[in-house]
Amino acid sequence: MAHPTITPGLEHDLLASVPTGLLVDGQWREASDGQTFEVEDPSTGKTLAVLADATSEDALAAMDAADKAQASWARTAPRERAEILRRAFELVTAKADDFALLMTLEMGKPLAEAYSEVAYGAEFLRWYSEEAVRDYGRYVTSPDGKNKILVQRKPVGPCLLITPWNFPLAMATRKVAPAVAAGCTMILKPAALTPLTSQLFAQVMIDAGLPAGVLNVVSTSKAADISGPLLKDSRLRKISFTGSTSVGKHLMAAAAENVLRTSMELGGNAPFIVFEDADLDKAVEGAMAAKMRNMGEACTAANRFLVHESVASEFTQRLARRMAELRPVRGTDPGSTLGPLIHSGAREEIHGLVTAAVAEGATIATGGNKVMGEGYFYEPTVLGNVPSTAAILSQEIFGPIAPVTTFTNEKQAIEMANSSEYGLAAYLFTRDYNKLIRVSEQIEFGMVGFNAGMLSNAAAPFGGVKHSGLGREGGAEGLSEYTSAQYVCIADPYVN
Ligand code: NAD
Repeated sequence: MAHPTITPGLEHDLLASVPTGLLVDGQWREASDGQTFEVEDPSTGKTLAVLADATSEDALAAMDAADKAQASWARTAPRERAEILRRAFELVTAKADDFALLMTLEMGKPLAEAYSEVAYGAEFLRWYSEEAVRDYGRYVTSPDGKNKILVQRKPVGPCLLITPWNFPLAMATRKVAPAVAAGCTMILKPAALTPLTSQLFAQVMIDAGLPAGVLNVVSTSKAADISGPLLKDSRLRKISFTGSTSVGKHLMAAAAENVLRTSMELGGNAPFIVFEDADLDKAVEGAMAAKMRNMGEACTAANRFLVHESVASEFTQRLARRMAELRPVRGTDPGSTLGPLIHSGAREEIHGLVTAAVAEGATIATGGNKVMGEGYFYEPTVLGNVPSTAAILSQEIFGPIAPVTTFTNEKQAIEMANSSEYGLAAYLFTRDYNKLIRVSEQIEFGMVGFNAGMLSNAAAPFGGVKHSGLGREGGAEGLSEYTSAQYVCIADPYVN
């Protein structure tokens, strides 16, 4: 594929076109106290934009708007909601250059990856435009024949949607699209590190015909000032959160007070298991995708490479050769294949993990250092011979580091995979379909990649078990997260 390039001057024009206010009741406006916050480019450390910084008062104004719009929005025809989503899909696709560049600027990912995210993120709009008209209920006779059971799906009501910084478009569309399809109104709070994409996406939703008040956006540097009052507000009926497990637990506790529906997409610690019969070419390709997409800053990122001892040395060397070919330069550079980490603190933390692993006995097959100069770049790194007790294997790395450890048999591989509080994604590389089924049934993960390093798909239920979260996004399951079943008992006129 040819490397994407950007037109000179586009960067400036694009940034000037992004709304900088808060979106409340269909209007872009300043924060109630007039305060602002800055958004930085992690490749340069320079300021990209200055946005209105929402306050608690703004959050409650957004709540008023979402509450006011809820009843009429819930009554709109499913086809009307479907058409809005379809138009939004077409608009995001037509603006792929803008969305891709904006994500590269605020998040750092190489342009080619940003284009992939535009396609992935837009797909949620198309998928839920198709699902909006297929939210089936049922009408059946009760087993004793005395009543009819009518079950209909109704929108849960106003939702608070909180997204992380790592996939600025897809994390927003993965929540907004099913909420629109279900007939819910929303308050979206994007991550302070990468809010620009959500700001532009919200404008696209307005341009696609979304009525005022259905989607409100409160970008802020003071997240708790927004979630605090909203989670206590009895008009709010749901929170959907994607982010770290620690923040997710805190929000779940607050949501319990108001008995809110919750969807939690939290952290991961994905095992990437390479069995002795695996096709190593495929395993290395899969490892590159599972580890290096988004610079390793993905909840599904392969975090622990569990490799059968008979192939561990060869796998480590081949992976190190491929990793060393990556070019860590600014994402807008046509040759970039690895962006920077999101901020300086994230880079320090990752370097600390590498240093500790080496002290615990790991060997460096490639990388292991910060890239000097502008931005927060880190060398693509492969660690071999990592002891199974090393700290790096038990926590989410969120960076371009691949630690390889070994196992001797299937039972041990399963035990090692399950020895984590997380249960989001797991990857299995083997030629044996019986082993795939056997191992999949025993591992405690919400998603399994079989000889595949990329899982995400708008048509599939994305989500985890254990401390990786509750609920699913994508697929038919993603729509049901935004609806409640209402059961109507109808006395059978012939019997009663
Ligand atoms: P984070 O938990 O720090 O922040 C996530 C969001 O929560 C941001 O918008 C942030 O501003 C907000 N937030 C933080 N404290 C808050 C509070 N007290 N009240 C309300 N909102 C608050 O996570 P992050 O660093 O942005 O993202 C990385 C994490 O997200 C990783 O753990 C990653 O695994 C996880 N993640 C999970 C998925 C998934 O689908 N399971 C997808 C992407 C990222």
